[in-house]
Amino acid sequence: MPTFWFRISEIALVAGLYVLTARLGQTLAIPPGNVTPVWMPSGLMLTWALLRGPYIWPGVVLGAFLGNVWAYADFSSFGSAVQVLLAGISNGIGDVLASVGCSILLHRYFRPFRLFQSVSSASAFLVVGVACGAAVSALIGVSGLLAAGLIDAQNYGNTFATWFTGDAIGVVAITPFVLAVYLSDKTERVLPGFETVANFLLMLSAIYIAFWSDVGGLMQSFELAVLPVLLMWASLRLSRIYISFALLFLIGGIIVPTALGQGPLQGIDRNTTLINTQLLLGVIGVLVLTLHATREQVRQQVQHLEHVKDTLDQKVRERTAELEEAKRKAEELASTDALTGAPNRRVFLKRGNEELNRAIRGGEDACVIMFDLDHFKEMNDTYGHQIGDRILKDCAAVTMGFVRNYDLFGRIGGEEFAVFLPNTTVSGGQNVAEKLRQAFLERSVSSHKLNYTASFGISPVLEKDRALSMVLRRADLAMYRAKADGRNCVVVYEPSLEEKNIGEGSPTPA
Ligand code: GH3
Ligand code: MG
Ligand code: MG
Repeated sequence: MPTFWFRISEIALVAGLYVLTARLGQTLAIPPGNVTPVWMPSGLMLTWALLRGPYIWPGVVLGAFLGNVWAYADFSSFGSAVQVLLAGISNGIGDVLASVGCSILLHRYFRPFRLFQSVSSASAFLVVGVACGAAVSALIGVSGLLAAGLIDAQNYGNTFATWFTGDAIGVVAITPFVLAVYLSDKTERVLPGFETVANFLLMLSAIYIAFWSDVGGLMQSFELAVLPVLLMWASLRLSRIYISFALLFLIGGIIVPTALGQGPLQGIDRNTTLINTQLLLGVIGVLVLTLHATREQVRQQVQHLEHVKDTLDQKVRERTAELEEAKRKAEELASTDALTGAPNRRVFLKRGNEELNRAIRGGEDACVIMFDLDHFKEMNDTYGHQIGDRILKDCAAVTMGFVRNYDLFGRIGGEEFAVFLPNTTVSGGQNVAEKLRQAFLERSVSSHKLNYTASFGISPVLEKDRALSMVLRRADLAMYRAKADGRNCVVVYEPSLEEKNIGEGSPTPA
């Protein structure tokens, strides 16, 4: 919170600034209408109130009052002193309503600090801050002059137009620039780029040729026409500080020489010339600010859309990854036996056939071991199905730990398993089967410390094999031979097995 004395000094500063800039404007004022080309106090007071708050109002009243008293100073008689005071008071009231009143409205209903960022806030600034502010100030100020008898009724309209235009152009020229500088963030405080410099140099030379040089008629008109185009360029492409600076520069750069009687805008008399010039510049200002605000709004919307698109992309990526993971899990589930985690019969047959083809094509050795747990029904009956399940899991785990990672293992029936061994001769397979058989014997499952046995049948892959089922059929024959031989043993397929009836059930080819 600023201290009391700080505020008092600020209010005094406001009043001083008002009087100073009012006097500066009045030095350019042209009789008989006393048109002040740019009424700087209106822009400064509105900006100050917007940035600092309504508490500066006494400074505005004081400044307007003193400025008027100074302008019309005539204390020769009591009557004329009253006239001057009346004009000063009405001017003070009008200016407070225009600056402080509008700043309150803009803060309350719009977002003046986002002046350049949306069409609606730029429009609010132009309608409330510029048009309404100038109209209120002119209405009360000119009515005060009339009441004080400083103008007569016929001049009311003209004086009103003059007052309104001067105030409005003051706000259009000054407020956007000060707000842009004051509210710019760090990223905007960069050195002007090539395009900005080019734009400014072109503007400078166009103003020089049109208003200060003596090249003559049409060339000057031509250069005048270039100026709004340069401003349009700036408002579409350059920074907001530069745009508002260019607007301020253009207004000053055109009004000062025009007020001095130079340039292509001269009309029938100087008052008309100035009013017309101000109106022209006011309209250009409105267009430039609105255009820039439109560009900013579009830019923000594009940014917003890009952000939405990024978020959507990210979500799609996440969902795709989730779906892929779900698909992978589903495939794993579909290919894995739920109880033991070993590949199921379907997958064993599919991959086994691929391995078989590869082995035959490469002329490599390969064999298949098939084994079936012995008397498993009895174990289930004695210890219960759950213990049976644990034995099946144990058997699969032991086997998976035994085989090489390019061997193919699968659960192909209830208590029946098979291993495809690429690059392995029958005697190699026999070795593996024998080790497995031993390993099962050494197991100790559950609190019953159970081991288990299995009967193994082995068959080599033969050149004539067209499908895995042919190898499995032979391994099955050998396995049944092992069962018949008393179980818990390993039998290698031999053609003689085909002729013998091995009794217990018939082999089931896959
Ligand atoms: P053999 O030595 O001749 O193979 O006798 P066996 O009792 O092992 O053979 P049989 O085919 O008569 O019985 C197989 C048993 O395996 C019957 C069935 O209840 C059991 N079994 C099959 N799948 C499962 C399973 O997933 N869990 C359990 N606990 N038992 C199973
Ligand atoms: Mg069995
Ligand atoms: Mg069986």
